[in-house]
Amino acid sequence: MATIVLEHIKKTFGQGPSVVDDFSIEVADGELVVLFGPSGCGKTTTLRMIAGLEPATGGSISIGDRCVESSGNMPRVNISPAKRNVAMVFQNQALYPHLDVFDNIAFGLKMRGMEQAEIEQRVSETVELLGLGPLIHRRPNRLSGGQRQRVALGRALVRRADVYLMDEPLSSLDGPLRDNLRHEIRRLHDRLGLTMLWVTHNAEEAMALADRIVVMRQEVSQDNITGGVQQIDTPAAIYESPANRFVAAMIGRPGINVMSGTLYTNGNRLDFNGKTLVVPGIDSIYPKLKEYVRQAIAAGIRPEDVTIVPEHQKIASNEYAIEGQVDSVECFGRECMIYMGGIDGTILETGFDAKSERLEKQELFAVRRQSDPSLMPAHGEKVQLVIDPHRLLFFDRETGKTIV
Ligand code: ATP
Repeated sequence: MATIVLEHIKKTFGQGPSVVDDFSIEVADGELVVLFGPSGCGKTTTLRMIAGLEPATGGSISIGDRCVESSGNMPRVNISPAKRNVAMVFQNQALYPHLDVFDNIAFGLKMRGMEQAEIEQRVSETVELLGLGPLIHRRPNRLSGGQRQRVALGRALVRRADVYLMDEPLSSLDGPLRDNLRHEIRRLHDRLGLTMLWVTHNAEEAMALADRIVVMRQEVSQDNITGGVQQIDTPAAIYESPANRFVAAMIGRPGINVMSGTLYTNGNRLDFNGKTLVVPGIDSIYPKLKEYVRQAIAAGIRPEDVTIVPEHQKIASNEYAIEGQVDSVECFGRECMIYMGGIDGTILETGFDAKSERLEKQELFAVRRQSDPSLMPAHGEKVQLVIDPHRLLFFDRETGKTIV
């Protein structure tokens, strides 16, 4: 296996705007890095540049200790895709319909002129690794979607490439099949020590798989595209300390509740939308917050950091509660999501929806809680939503950056 180093890579198509702009990362040997972001943010283009299928407009790419691509101000290097020893797996990968599983996996090795004995050994190992043994003589039209993707993965693994580039390999699969294959690929990755770059716009998949996530964004206005890499870190660090409002809303399902309001601080007191929140040591927790006094800011709280309390129950003087009214409830067995309306302050967004690939701007505030029927508020009931002050995040209204 090998490292992947991207240094200031850029890509523009023709005279158009940059679709990848100044992206740098060092992917360690054996690391699994997920490129995550909405449609059109440059994830596939980045993989294609690494594979050599798309020339970079600027910057350099190294695989192991070899520079495979460099352009812009640097001397031009452009190693052909076949010589990069990179394997790519796509969504809905086409298999050869007239070949069975064995021959589909063996095809690339035969093309390279490998000896038959070695081919048989490699394919047998791969087939066993992926649990494809009983299917070895079947053609693709007699395989399920999950089995076909497993064969596509086998074709990549059998090559023993230096790095693996996975472009939404599971997105054509649903439900448990998708979860199982994801789990299996992560196990294979760990067992074989693969260096992997994985593209997805599914936050759950990114969180479950990644050693590190690159959160990407691309916003298209009339003739301009802005955005780029928003944050690179471990899933836990991105969840706990998102760099900005966009990242906070993208990670987590449903995403963070973000409300707008005006901020006043006074000692340990923080007034937001006319409600007072007492946060002991607020200066040391959010030292920069005082710079935003009397300004409109955005405050975010995740659905799991809110407790629902009946309307007339007295809450402690150091607790911060907002009022809400139950709009709808979705139960998922052990836990449920309760969506609240009638919240003070505008709700700016409640997260990224992978289906519509947009940040949702519904006027509902999401609360996650255990499904205990005796504690479940009724539809339309007015309640208090007690917010854990230590879990609040504050964002600059103009730039969206997290205030720390
Ligand atoms: P998705 O999740 O939908 O696959 P993505 O994040 O992988 O999206 P890319 O496919 O990398 O996004 O595309 C990034 C941008 O580059 C898009 O705006 C796309 O329209 C543009 N683009 C991609 N390929 C070309 C091309 N060959 N010519 C012109 N523009 C292109």
